[in-house]
Amino acid sequence: MGVDFIYPEFEVIRNEDRCISCRVCERQCANEVHCFSDERKKMMSDEANCVNCQRCVSLCPTRALKIVKSDCTLKENANWQNDTIKEIYKQASSGGVLLSSMGNPKSLPVYWDKILINASQVTNPSIDPLREPMETHISLGKKPEKIRRDDKGRIICDLPPQINLSIPVMFSAMSYGSISYNAHASLERAATELGILYNTGEGGLHEDFYRYGPNTVVQVASGRFGVHEDYLKAGAAIEIKMGQGAKPGIGGHLPGTKIVGDVSRTRMIPEGSDAISPAPHHDIYSIEDLRQLVYSLKEATDYQKPVIVKVAAVHNIAAIASGIARSGADIIAIDGFRGGTGAAPTRTRDNVGIPIELALAAVDQRLRDEGIRNNISLVVGGSIRSAADVVKAVALGADACYIATAALLALGCHLCRTCQTGKCNWGIATQRPDLVKRLNPDIGSERLINLMTAWRHEIRELMGGMGINSIEALRGNRLMLRGVGLTEKELEILGISHAGE
Ligand code: SF4
Ligand code: SF4
Repeated sequence: MGVDFIYPEFEVIRNEDRCISCRVCERQCANEVHCFSDERKKMMSDEANCVNCQRCVSLCPTRALKIVKSDCTLKENANWQNDTIKEIYKQASSGGVLLSSMGNPKSLPVYWDKILINASQVTNPSIDPLREPMETHISLGKKPEKIRRDDKGRIICDLPPQINLSIPVMFSAMSYGSISYNAHASLERAATELGILYNTGEGGLHEDFYRYGPNTVVQVASGRFGVHEDYLKAGAAIEIKMGQGAKPGIGGHLPGTKIVGDVSRTRMIPEGSDAISPAPHHDIYSIEDLRQLVYSLKEATDYQKPVIVKVAAVHNIAAIASGIARSGADIIAIDGFRGGTGAAPTRTRDNVGIPIELALAAVDQRLRDEGIRNNISLVVGGSIRSAADVVKAVALGADACYIATAALLALGCHLCRTCQTGKCNWGIATQRPDLVKRLNPDIGSERLINLMTAWRHEIRELMGGMGINSIEALRGNRLMLRGVGLTEKELEILGISHAGE
């Protein structure tokens, strides 16, 4: 009795009156769900392979299709739920570790939704963002403790290298290999147009994209794929990836089937070989070791590039961040437990790490308490879903946010959560040429620009409503936040009062 024993999760409902057997659905589905039966002279479906990506539904010219979640359930109870039972069946059949993609879907608290933003009323004027200047620019990097002047009274401008962003948002790391060439092209073009940065992830930088270097963060991960001097010098900043929110404590694995053509050349590894990033960097076992890598990267780039250290949000994140701030890094990026991924072991994704909201509040407070907050900028990611999440994150203490899933949604992702199969019907998490070409980078970048433009308007409106006219004045301004339905302990960690106080 194997996996086939499990009833399909989704059902394909085809309206026979509307279906004209044009076979568009058959051509669009990489999972081979649809086919035309010569015998029955009509379209048929094999629902076992459907992942509910909605591609066929969206492109059916007569709107004849609907995908619904099957209501055929196993005899579940509060302890043994449908998905848990199915996972046991799958493992009993395969003997393997369960793999998943995208972020943790469990019903653990989303603190952003339990935090509310203040607004000005009567005694403190709000600001109209349509009529008055509203500053959404931000620079990331070490800041001096105080303004220094020379003996003629002129300000001494010896700022360490900075990243300048038009809004406090960047596109987070997604490697070429885990996502497609056209997805990367969309992100790069949009970042350049918007005046923000995108991130190569650990797959190296395709030669076509060096021209977008000023808007690129180049990543150095434990596998060191595609890392060389030109690569390091190409980016606006270098990110050392120590961890990732979706899979803290473990490395990465891109299967050999995805290491083809340009992906293999860009990563500098042979075609067909698995790209395995070890869990630790084999040269880093302490903050002192991390410091050595930070300064090696600075040395290799003539001290012109800020260095980011990216870590997953874990229990002792505040102490880790304090060490990173002392390692010489310019920016710390923290990825919460809801952060997305192209593939991660399901158990790790769903059970390891902590919410980004709590990690952010704890880190910002610790760095302030130690008097080193200005030594380092703080970027947070791990399911930033809207402009409101960005505003709350900045008010909690972040300098900027990383987004990835939201960016992929803008590109057409339907969150079917099967990126690990490489059969993304929307041309995003795939290397299959016939699927990659479904994503037009012109349209993709335009949609990303639209999304960020909309968020910029919303950020300005929310700030104006609070009577705040710059991101700098919002940063760490926790008085602008109130909690609802939170315990004393949660409020204490978040450093905010309860609504009504
Ligand atoms: S996998 Fe996607 S394209 Fe294929 S049948 Fe299901 S919803 Fe349609
Ligand atoms: S990127 Fe593609 S495969 Fe991954 S969740 Fe989105 S639509 Fe599905």
